Amino acid sequence: MILLPTLAAGAAVAAAGSLATRHPRSSVFSPNVWRGHAGRKSVALTFDDGPSESTPELLRVLAQYNVPATFFQVGHHARRLPEIARQVAQRHEIGNHTDTHPALWLKSGSFIRDEIDRAQETLGDYARVNWFRAPFGVRWFGLRAALRTHQLTNVMWGVIGRDWTDLSGASIAELVLAKPAAGLIVCLHDGRSLTAKPDISNTIEAVRRLIPALLEQGCQFETVSQIVRPDAPPR
Ligand SMILES: [Zn+2]
Repeated sequence: MILLPTLAAGAAVAAAGSLATRHPRSSVFSPNVWRGHAGRKSVALTFDDGPSESTPELLRVLAQYNVPATFFQVGHHARRLPEIARQVAQRHEIGNHTDTHPALWLKSGSFIRDEIDRAQETLGDYARVNWFRAPFGVRWFGLRAALRTHQLTNVMWGVIGRDWTDLSGASIAELVLAKPAAGLIVCLHDGRSLTAKPDISNTIEAVRRLIPALLEQGCQFETVSQIVRPDAPPR
């Protein structure tokens, strides 16, 4: 008699918790943005989990179209590949994606703070970092305070390309193009968690298809700062 309602309540709490931690629009655990102004035909491409050995090829595709993007870098990878990390920062915006890419779910406040502090220290050597993206989109208690220290805002997305799976570049592009483009923040990956030398060929193929298709629709490309705060002076 008592057990069943308890289980049901537990499941409800777990479901609500999952929604609160991973839902793109949730601000329960941190200040959060997930799209730009819907009145402007702008798209922000974002890339997580890099830098990787495969990032330079992606940079060449973006340069071919003169498209700016935002890269949420992992501190561990930036120290592993400092030249590539800096190369990205010369043309693109850099965000903090923690130091070792853990899921923050159930982690202590000091663990979360340490992950963000260490990445911020590494990335701060070569970039001004105003944005954060939680690994797997998972936010948890303690994140708000850790972000406040560095004046970081969490960034979610309007569409995620699922490019870490075996989806083809064409399918990833289709997923993205199915969404209304105005103010859209697109989440893709130039790394694969902590993997060295990842195969990101499907991501690159998707970007090769996406950019001309969106340009054809009259879209422009912006960084997260530009799409979220178009009128703000650069920080
Ligand atoms: Zn990630």
